[in-house]
Amino acid sequence: MKQYDVVVVGKGNAALCAALAARDAGASVAMLEVAPEEESGGNSRFAGGVMRFAYSSVEDLKRVTDLTDAEVAGSDFGTNTTDEYFDDLFRLTSFRTDPVLSEMLVKQSLDIMVWLRSKGVKFVPNFGRQSAPVNGKRKFFGRLPIEVSGGGPGLVQALDKAVAAAGVEVFYSTRAKRLVQEGDRVVGVSASQAGKAVEFRGKAVVLACGGFEANPEMRARYLGPGWELAKVRGTRFNQGDGLKMALDIGAAPYGNWSGAHATGWDLNAPEFGDIHVGDQFQKHSYIFGLLINADGKRFVDEGADFHSFTYAKYGGEVLKQPGQFAWQVFDAKVTKLLRPEYRMKMMTRVTANTLEELAGKLEGVNGKAFLETVRAYNASIQKHVPFEHTVKDGRGTMGIDPPKSNWAQALDTPPFEGYATTCGITFTFGGLRIDPSNGQVLDVTMTPIPGLYCAGEMVGGLYYFNYASGTGLVSGALFGRLAGTGAARS
Ligand SMILES: Cc1cc2nc3c(=O)[nH]c(=O)nc-3n(C[C@H](O)[C@H](O)[C@H](O)COP(=O)(O)OP(=O)(O)OC[C@H]3O[C@@H](n4cnc5c(N)ncnc54)[C@H](O)[C@@H]3O)c2cc1C
Repeated sequence: MKQYDVVVVGKGNAALCAALAARDAGASVAMLEVAPEEESGGNSRFAGGVMRFAYSSVEDLKRVTDLTDAEVAGSDFGTNTTDEYFDDLFRLTSFRTDPVLSEMLVKQSLDIMVWLRSKGVKFVPNFGRQSAPVNGKRKFFGRLPIEVSGGGPGLVQALDKAVAAAGVEVFYSTRAKRLVQEGDRVVGVSASQAGKAVEFRGKAVVLACGGFEANPEMRARYLGPGWELAKVRGTRFNQGDGLKMALDIGAAPYGNWSGAHATGWDLNAPEFGDIHVGDQFQKHSYIFGLLINADGKRFVDEGADFHSFTYAKYGGEVLKQPGQFAWQVFDAKVTKLLRPEYRMKMMTRVTANTLEELAGKLEGVNGKAFLETVRAYNASIQKHVPFEHTVKDGRGTMGIDPPKSNWAQALDTPPFEGYATTCGITFTFGGLRIDPSNGQVLDVTMTPIPGLYCAGEMVGGLYYFNYASGTGLVSGALFGRLAGTGAARS
């Protein structure tokens, strides 16, 4: 048996932040990571690393990253004021997001970025993905001007370094299986290490071991039929263990248990994420093209909003289509706007010089119906509205269902490109109910469970139906710090 003040389960962003905060509060800390060291770091290590936080000026951004005078003069960073952040969260979650948790996220998001920086995480302007030159300046759009240097791997590497320097003990290949209680109080975790049972005792336990996205049985059970067929974008280790352990001792489930973050993902990507490929199987440039199902039909408004505000629910829409796939199709007018990952060799791509040739190459698609869909779409475009990809340009369609609300351009200029996608699940929305003052897990009677805290994907109540890109890492750090501090003081 091993004894610590705080036992943290997991070693992703939320767990690492919890461990650091607990050490800052003077606690001795053990971290249990089910993965071997080379596969450790959870979904956090697969992340692209964009961070959504509230800022209203360049001065706010300068608290997070070093900006040269030339970068400031040459950029239009826009804003993501607290009001804009609230509006996005409320709109995307149909006003279901927990008011207290979302207020904490929005109002403390800048502060947690500054805290992460103080722990050695380096942030840089997001020049690569959400910005473009406009009128001589680099204009940022989607309210996401900052990312972690080195993406998710860079974040985990920096936090790994910080926990090592802080004297946190990390146990790899150690799977937490059960919470140990004395009376009602959680006093440790029973784990398995190389086939042997080991007990880690602590005054408090922080569960930060992800959702159930990698567990097909739980996906089918909670998200619904068909979800077992989704590919997993990130780690294979988030099997819902922490949620099960907590529910087993009476923790209160909270949030959108039938909801998940899921995106378009290469049809032939492996079953789980590949750490060497990271997030590169994603296909977020559909806003400039059309999404076509096996029946040759469109099924969503591709241009409803910037991808940041639709991508997390469109994966689920692809899963609902016959055969669970969709082709993204583009013409030569927009291929230069496609994100760099579209150019990777391993993508499932076809090219054609005519629409008829393309129709024949979109495997599994009714080609005749596809050509009819394109004809009707091309005829429906409001051509008098100029195309402008850095704003919601309002260049939409008339008289077709579903409409395309922005960035509608005729598919008429060869060569054409098609990309086969399926649904890639990122993480699940359902989680546990916490006390927002300290991250402590509540039981089904809304009473705090002594000694039990949680963070990251395991916190329920923030996301319903949809999600704004870049929120997961910020909320993981924020609620990780809260839970680590709470656990150390318990
Ligand atoms: C491809 C991809 C791209 C993404 N891009 C972004 C982005 O750009 N910006 C953003 O904000 N978010 C992004 N996300 C979402 C973000 O990565 C997650 O929201 C966040 O990493 C979750 O952090 P976490 O600490 O809760 O979970 P994780 O980072 O998944 O950590 C969970 C940890 O628990 C461990 N674990 C699981 N079960 C056990 C057990 N029984 N015992 C011990 N350990 C266990 C796992 O091995 C892992 O270490 C992305 C996700 C993916 C998959």
